[in-house]
Amino acid sequence: MHRLTGIGVSPGVVVGRAVLLLQNPLVIRFPVRPEQVPVELARLDEARERSRRELLDIKSRIARTAAPDLGYLFEAQLLMLDDPMLVTRARDLIAAEHVNAEWAVQQAFEELATIFDTAQDAYLRERRGDVADVVGRLRMNLGRLRGRGADLFADVEAGTVLIADQLTPSMAAQVDWQKILGFATDGGSPTHHTAILARSLHVPAVVGLGSVTGRIPPGVMVAIDGSSGVVLIDPPDEVVEEAKSRTTPRVRASDHNIGREASPAVTADGAVIALEANIELPADMAAARSAGATGIGLYRSEFLLATTSGAALTEESQFEAYRALVEGMAPAAVTVRTFDVDDSQLQPWATGTGTAMGAPRGVGAGGALGLRAVRLSLVMPELFRVQLRALLRASRHGRLRIMFPFVSGVEDLRTARAALRQVADELAARGEPIDALPPVGVMIEIPSAAVTADLLAREADFFSIGTNDLIQYLLAVDRTDARVSRLFEPLHPAVLRTLRHVIRAAARRHLSVSLCGEMAADPVILPLLIGLGLTSFSMSPAAIAVARGVVERLDSAAAARLAARVMRQATVAGVERCLAREPVRSLAGAGRDPDARQGSHE
Ligand code: PEP
Ligand code: MG
Repeated sequence: MHRLTGIGVSPGVVVGRAVLLLQNPLVIRFPVRPEQVPVELARLDEARERSRRELLDIKSRIARTAAPDLGYLFEAQLLMLDDPMLVTRARDLIAAEHVNAEWAVQQAFEELATIFDTAQDAYLRERRGDVADVVGRLRMNLGRLRGRGADLFADVEAGTVLIADQLTPSMAAQVDWQKILGFATDGGSPTHHTAILARSLHVPAVVGLGSVTGRIPPGVMVAIDGSSGVVLIDPPDEVVEEAKSRTTPRVRASDHNIGREASPAVTADGAVIALEANIELPADMAAARSAGATGIGLYRSEFLLATTSGAALTEESQFEAYRALVEGMAPAAVTVRTFDVDDSQLQPWATGTGTAMGAPRGVGAGGALGLRAVRLSLVMPELFRVQLRALLRASRHGRLRIMFPFVSGVEDLRTARAALRQVADELAARGEPIDALPPVGVMIEIPSAAVTADLLAREADFFSIGTNDLIQYLLAVDRTDARVSRLFEPLHPAVLRTLRHVIRAAARRHLSVSLCGEMAADPVILPLLIGLGLTSFSMSPAAIAVARGVVERLDSAAAARLAARVMRQATVAGVERCLAREPVRSLAGAGRDPDARQGSHE
């Protein structure tokens, strides 16, 4: 047995056989039953034939162009398809190791690539790219035979656990978590969307393990403890039995008791605190309602892109999704954030080749500092207008608020608002006038927006502080990079001063301000945030019960005194010490236990 320790981001214990997912390149590796081996071999053969037909077609088209000589490149690729070290080797691997075809092709490629990489001859070394091209084509055709992303796990058996180099939110949104019990990843951090999603789906997870994918062969028994962050590889039977007995039964959103009255939390001295829900999937609405959320403070609409193919994501389908949300939450309000993706995540969607969000944030062309969120919407007017039209139409069916992500200052807000007005005019021209435009808010998540909060407060209808991003940009710490996750410090004096500045700027204009970052769900930090003047929060539904308990035991005057003490601290350690002191510690009750933080006691 081997033991690895990472960061537990979603509590609970699960045990099952490992399925591997390598996203870079995207390849899944799982054991196949002996009777499935001929099926895998047939898939591989068919993928080879398809690839051959495509290459022949490309070759003949090149022959008719101005550069017919280039045809030889594809001649070489055709020969590679028949190279015994590639497809034949992959066939052998399937037969000998009982693994799926995708992984066998990848394994054969890696063996071949090593030979090319060590070749003395530069010409030979360059041929590695051609092999990679052929392998990419084979993989694409294997994928086509299997279907789109949603089917990637179709042949995986129930009761398995997923071991991945990284798990993008879109991939996590597509996994059947009834079948796959939990996951462990090489990378990741507690605030990455996948961790957020895991918590909202009650899927135990450990991230930041470094090289877990290199240490676990497919089919091996693995125990994952999302509370302690421990992963056990090939544990003895008694540990497996023990782990099974501790396995937390999965709570499905649909199992929740829908219909609990939405009720704000009230402090011991009578101050009303709104606790709204952050949701990613319309199905999360049930969990939000059963937690008594007073509304949806953040609907991450980009998850629609992640779960719908380009062609299917029309104005109509978006309208239906938004309408279902506002009707489902009525009479509570729903805040829909317009798409927060970067251009690389959007590419497959925009070109109609698949679903969006293929790459994790921070990676790829757009990335954390690039063309993303409202910036992207503003340079893709058609995409933006379709979303705004769908939102405006849905606003007729309930209380909808529109929120723009990644606003950097007043110009962004003005331009986005102008687009909204224009879309409203177009709707009026086509005989569908909107009586009153919904409230328009901005996420305060870029330092420049926070610094100019007083200016933004004159033009926005509400603020929602996105501390997940605000902290990463303020402290220059990539929130998706496990190596620096310890530096991602919500209690840094710079963060707290920024929050105070934004809260004051909003208060001066009587603007409603909420906080929707993960920070709100920390029961130790919540009293401080209330002491700083916040009265509205949005968090994952699973965190609401704990937050409610904290609020109900809190005295607002004590919280204000705590905030005053904290704001005099020069260091994170100083802030931590203040928070640890009575009486707030007892008010927080749950302490900093990560389980309690995520409401696992429910
Ligand atoms: C945030 O940045 O704090 C936030 C809530 O948005 P997201 O996590 O989706 O970037
Ligand atoms: Mg954000």
